[in-house]
Amino acid sequence: MYEKVVTRFAPSPTGNLNIGGVRAGIFAYLFARHNGGQFILRIEDTDKERSKKEYEDNIIDSLKWLGLEYDNFYRQSDNAARHEELLRKLIAEGKAYISKEEDGNGRVEVIRFKNPNKEITFTDTVHGKITFDTTELKDFVIAKSFIEPVFHFAVVVDDADEGVTHVIRGADHISNTPRQMLIREALGIPHPEYAHLPLIVSSDRSKLSKRKGAKALSEYRDLGFLPEAILNYDAFLGWHPEGEREIYSKKEMARKFTLERVQKSPAMFDEAKLLWFNAQHIKKLSDEEFSKRLAEYALGYGSTGEAKDEFDRRLVPLIKERAQTLSEAKELLREYDFLARVSVGTNMLLQNGKIEKQTASRHLQAATKLLEDVNDEDFTPEKIKNVIFPYATEHGRGEVLWPMRVALSGREKSPDPFTIASMLGKKETLKRIASAAEAL
Ligand code: GLU
Repeated sequence: MYEKVVTRFAPSPTGNLNIGGVRAGIFAYLFARHNGGQFILRIEDTDKERSKKEYEDNIIDSLKWLGLEYDNFYRQSDNAARHEELLRKLIAEGKAYISKEEDGNGRVEVIRFKNPNKEITFTDTVHGKITFDTTELKDFVIAKSFIEPVFHFAVVVDDADEGVTHVIRGADHISNTPRQMLIREALGIPHPEYAHLPLIVSSDRSKLSKRKGAKALSEYRDLGFLPEAILNYDAFLGWHPEGEREIYSKKEMARKFTLERVQKSPAMFDEAKLLWFNAQHIKKLSDEEFSKRLAEYALGYGSTGEAKDEFDRRLVPLIKERAQTLSEAKELLREYDFLARVSVGTNMLLQNGKIEKQTASRHLQAATKLLEDVNDEDFTPEKIKNVIFPYATEHGRGEVLWPMRVALSGREKSPDPFTIASMLGKKETLKRIASAAEAL
């Protein structure tokens, strides 16, 4: 346990927050919560040209949707005065200098850090001891001007000002760490703990990128994924608690999360596995909660609870069991609409003339008799099949089961008649068979 933990998620608003990018935020969040510490969101907008307000909004909305609530919010550009102050301080102390240089467009001034050319060693919580000879970094640039610090400088100042104790971020930042440590030493700021998370790779082992498989969280939301499934799946990209179990809630993960159980080797992103996580989390929702989510998804976010009543209650457990996403659930809702209402055409009942009217009528009456003997509480697919199937086998399965199934569903295609009858219940089943028989 640590005395006080402060972590941060520091995305740049240069694109929508994607499923790979948010993983660092999830780990920083879980670590802070596990240790009763604080979690910060910092928007790193030092790159003025590529940073956009719409991306900042997307990041904030995505974190809200995921349920990664932060205790403090900062925007890097709001700390500009402090960046300038410390740049001037380093220059005054002879630890940095203004350098006049040629770039492609003429003469420019940049601020360079005076590299003490030393060996830097740190112990990364995930990767262990790492040593760098910083000589090759030369006198690196820390700002393009007093109001344009580069990323390395701004990160160090902000992390220190915000009291960040643990820098948790992707392994692609390991090579940046020595520069940032040199700047810290020059400013007299103590080092935080570093934990660099394993790379996330696609199934072909190439780095997961915007072009390769890394969809935005907002896209996953629109595809009908649950935030808890994304959270769970992402947390398992490089971490897992002891044991075989995979489905965890946010609270449970926070309780279990330690950096010691984070792996070094790359984590493979597999969309099929994510889909499986989603299906599991859908099944875990209460019927009530599932209806609410589906209503929101099908009718638009922010819609009122009244929409719930539009769904037939009987459909909910059925759909929950079968849908992998809310989008599939929405389809199933349409597909199972016959459970709420039915209209049966004679032609379809007789399979377009393939079955004789008298035959169909006779079988429907026989089915009624057989079903009347089944108790209401016993109206399960198995029990129904047990009474109907021997009769159907004796008298011709197609001629018995087709009219029965159409009478119940009104559809050319549907689940089998036993399943539908069980979903409808005894009363509604008998009612539908009677009215189909009457129509003949
Ligand atoms: N802004 C950096 C990024 O988006 C993160 C910096 C850090 O975590 O130190 O990659």
